[in-house]
Amino acid sequence: MDTQLQKVYDQVLRMNPGEVEFHQAVKEVFDSLGPVLRKKPEYVEGAVLSRICEPERQIIFRVPWVDDAGRVRINRGFRVEYSSVLGPYKGGLRFHPSVYLGIVKFLGFEQIFKNSLTGMPIGGAKGGSDFDPHSASDGEVMRFCQSFMTELYRNLGEHTDVPAGDIGVGAREIGYLFGQYKRITNRHESGVLTGKGLTWGGSLVRTEATGYGVVFFVEEMLGEIGTSLDGRRVTVSGSGNVATYAIEKAQQLGAKVVACSDSGGYVVDEEGIDLELLKQIKEVERGRISCYAERRPSAVFSDTGSIWDVPVDVALPCATQNELDEAAATALISHGVLAVAEGANMPCTPGAIAILQEAGVKYAPGKASNAGGVATSALEMQQNAARDSWSFEDTEKKLHQIMHDIHDRCSETAEEYGQPGNYVVGANIAGFTKVADAVIAMGVV
Ligand code: GLU
Repeated sequence: MDTQLQKVYDQVLRMNPGEVEFHQAVKEVFDSLGPVLRKKPEYVEGAVLSRICEPERQIIFRVPWVDDAGRVRINRGFRVEYSSVLGPYKGGLRFHPSVYLGIVKFLGFEQIFKNSLTGMPIGGAKGGSDFDPHSASDGEVMRFCQSFMTELYRNLGEHTDVPAGDIGVGAREIGYLFGQYKRITNRHESGVLTGKGLTWGGSLVRTEATGYGVVFFVEEMLGEIGTSLDGRRVTVSGSGNVATYAIEKAQQLGAKVVACSDSGGYVVDEEGIDLELLKQIKEVERGRISCYAERRPSAVFSDTGSIWDVPVDVALPCATQNELDEAAATALISHGVLAVAEGANMPCTPGAIAILQEAGVKYAPGKASNAGGVATSALEMQQNAARDSWSFEDTEKKLHQIMHDIHDRCSETAEEYGQPGNYVVGANIAGFTKVADAVIAMGVV
């Protein structure tokens, strides 16, 4: 790392002790920025890096709620409003026991550059809580969401901060959050949250968008080496929203998805994943992936070993951060994997990325390949602002075009900086320079 970058990185470590995921996310971006700082001294003089690394606002709040047994429970809520230079703060809410400030900051930091890459006018933010919706009843989830919004609502607004879903926050949670916002403010302000239900301001394709977008990106990557997904074997880790719709689009494009997972283990299905069954178990019954193997004769469930040991042409990590490590990357390479594209945020460890790139595997970082979700959120905001709603076909076409443009933006930037084919460098530099130029243009604010 260059001296200038190292100085700022040391400052980040000092100011955010113990937040290892955040440190990892910052280092990943900084490792690409050396050539940019040499080309643009105004970024150094204007202390642009330190300004971008320090969130504009960090909100931490108590979330009290009453469980079904009548006991008072307390969780911690977060919203890190990271950067608003390109547009209102935008990014999801994650409800998961692992959530603490360092996770929210890593996600918010990545969101700035991801949102910049989409070409849409949206700033970067992230929020969430250590609340676990999977171990709560529907009534408990509702009361938790109401309490969460009762505190957060004062910081939100269609021109201020627009949350959406992430792990543990889907259509149900967005509904409860929106209902409470509407009640407190007495405003049906549809642009204040995205991922809404289709009859009250939601956008077609938003549910599918992240997963579809990853697959559109993969098609672009494979196109560069003269091939496609048709007939390819694919592993998609996870079985939540991103994974489900990555599987759906990969299958529509002729791929055979042979494995998926949840936190309890993974299934291998040599006949190809039965998506209807998967949706029934995960979306309707909110059950475990092991149930899939119980109901499908061609599937085998495993809670030992690794999903990345399954031989495939394309691997799509769509579960969570740091789920694909060096051993997994080595196993994938030994089976001749062609491409790895991240559906989750930061699912590959730095060591895994180095091994994949060294072996010449096409690798796409999440801030490029999973940007379709937030991009479609921006399309939802456009429809809300115009009090309009578009057809599935039109919206999917726009998403497809956006993913194509992100791919080309990354590819061209990597080329410009002398590292053709390196999507990490391309995504980081293209995402960063747009934000940095806006920071400079707006003065010291
Ligand atoms: N949580 C998603 C992401 O990581 C979507 C955010 C949004 O739609 O605002 O990009």
